[in-house]
Amino acid sequence: MLSLDDARFVISDKLKSGRSVTLPTREATNHALATDIFVREDFPAFSNSAMDGYAVHKSDLAELPKSLPISMELAAGSRENKVLSAGNAARVFTGASIPQGADCVIKQEDVEVSDDDTQVTVKSDVEFGDFIRYRGEDLLSGERLFKAGSKLGPAQIACLISQGIYEVPVIRKPSVGYIMTGDELRFQGEPVGEGQIRSCNGELFESFLSPFSDTLSDYGYITDDLDQLKSKLSHAQDHDLFLISGGASVGKYDHTRDVLESLGYKIHFERVAVRPGKPLIFATRENQVIFGVPGNPVSTFVACTLFISHALAVLSGWKRKSHRVLATLNKDHTKSSKFDMYLRGILHLENNRTIVDTNLNQSSGALGSLARANCLALLPAGKSVFKKGETIEVIPIAGWGTWN
Ligand code: AMP
Ligand code: MG
Repeated sequence: MLSLDDARFVISDKLKSGRSVTLPTREATNHALATDIFVREDFPAFSNSAMDGYAVHKSDLAELPKSLPISMELAAGSRENKVLSAGNAARVFTGASIPQGADCVIKQEDVEVSDDDTQVTVKSDVEFGDFIRYRGEDLLSGERLFKAGSKLGPAQIACLISQGIYEVPVIRKPSVGYIMTGDELRFQGEPVGEGQIRSCNGELFESFLSPFSDTLSDYGYITDDLDQLKSKLSHAQDHDLFLISGGASVGKYDHTRDVLESLGYKIHFERVAVRPGKPLIFATRENQVIFGVPGNPVSTFVACTLFISHALAVLSGWKRKSHRVLATLNKDHTKSSKFDMYLRGILHLENNRTIVDTNLNQSSGALGSLARANCLALLPAGKSVFKKGETIEVIPIAGWGTWN
């Protein structure tokens, strides 16, 4: 049985990132940059005030309090290139350019202004550079802004636009297709009889994987039937990744493995040392890539978090490190040492410590407890007894696109 790292290594080894395309920056969210991007313009482009206040020469404030005449006013957008002579103050507003000669800004809350607005009195000491955002202090023209492979989110998109970069070379995101399998499944609008359940994994895929994919195509539902599965797999060739929900295990009605093998797919692994989520099939044939995903929605979620999003990240060219945090376990746990166990948990701060509360139903079928959790807490392989107070790794469940 493969460990998480080994399985990810196999996945990375078999997959290649997509081709690069140029997109309008505003449409590039969740894409990886295809090339390094360099700073085009110093940012800020001109030295400006971080506050509403008064720009002065620090050397005028050797003795306090000090009254200075207000000789000019500059608001955001003022375009004159003004010079402030010594012994004067400039009224400035947030974002206004700093007049030449001024070397600090005093907040308006910290001064007194004469009734006729002509004189400002400074009482408290200030430092050189106070409340000035200097030209280029954030980004200097010519330096590297982002490396190839950086994933673009809201902050990166805003930063590119602020640089006047309205188009970017990115890696095309993968297209994904999926099917649901299982005799017991029922769908929206269908009556649910004894022994039947509502299918929710298609919607789980959609919600989880849409940030990672260009298109997500739903190829519907089949019963646990070999021939139907064979015929549905013809759609795999139209996608970068194809997902089969259910039937990934070794029960009498679990056909995914046999069907893939009979159609000539190479099975790279069929089990991972992770619970929930142990049965997971990864197979390829030419450029088709298939995951057989366990039908239990908690396992599906873990598979999406650890493996499928990893595959999509590789296809999308994302070069990002896993995001995990350390937290203190709130109670004792015992498990087999053969696999990683991911507990549903609630991460919270308590007396300046990050605690992970694992007092949720940990049964592999308990979807309600997954929906109430905000993290997956790792009890790693190689160890079976975990004590309250131990520090463990935790994967926060992000609002979207968890990839860890
Ligand atoms: P399987 O992986 O087919 O052995 O299914 C494992 C468990 O997950 C069974 O209890 C199934 O009823 C349940 N299950 C399978 N597919 C789905 C689905 N699409 N939505 C919700 N539960 C499912
Ligand atoms: Mg089944």
